[in-house]
Amino acid sequence: MKCPFVYADGHQCTGEVYRAGAYGRSDRFGAVDERGIRKIRLWCSEKNDHAGSVPSFEGKLRMEFYPDELHRRGLLAEAIALCENVCPESAVALP
Ligand SMILES: [Zn+2]
Repeated sequence: MKCPFVYADGHQCTGEVYRAGAYGRSDRFGAVDERGIRKIRLWCSEKNDHAGSVPSFEGKLRMEFYPDELHRRGLLAEAIALCENVCPESAVALP
């Protein structure tokens, strides 16, 4: 999927997302339930996490997206497919 990062001057990054990770409610093995995703972090082929040369809290936040945000842009399904730590709903045994 195309990198959803937008630069301050308004142009969108031309990189491809090669990796994603989900944050949210997870089971004891660390896998996040698809319905429990709170945020998704992306890494792109051009700038990785777009954090720049000085890693900072603000930098890290640049490539973290809320599921709603990705959904609005039509990217949620692709982002979830790239997540290494998301297990499909059916595979999650809820307590
Ligand atoms: Zn990018």
